[in-house]
Amino acid sequence: MFCPNCGNQMKEGAVFCSNCGYRKESSVSNGASFNLNKIPFVPILCMVAIVVLVMIGYNAFNNRTCRYCTNKVYKQGLCRDHYT
Ligand SMILES: [Zn+2]
Ligand SMILES: [Zn+2]
Repeated sequence: MFCPNCGNQMKEGAVFCSNCGYRKESSVSNGASFNLNKIPFVPILCMVAIVVLVMIGYNAFNNRTCRYCTNKVYKQGLCRDHYT
């Protein structure tokens, strides 16, 4: 195939023209859509997972019960009745 910009012969499957640096349009759009769809998706998924884990941990912490009864924990694993 030949570069549409300068006419230099390009390697088959080459993204850039080695002579003038021209970018093939189809490769650019494919690369852009890949970058937009795939790359930020993983950090967002990680953030969602972290938020869910933090919320579960927060709820577990708040919903702890006294080690001697089923009352809500007041301090140091004990409810108000058992904490002295
Ligand atoms: Zn070129
Ligand atoms: Zn208690």
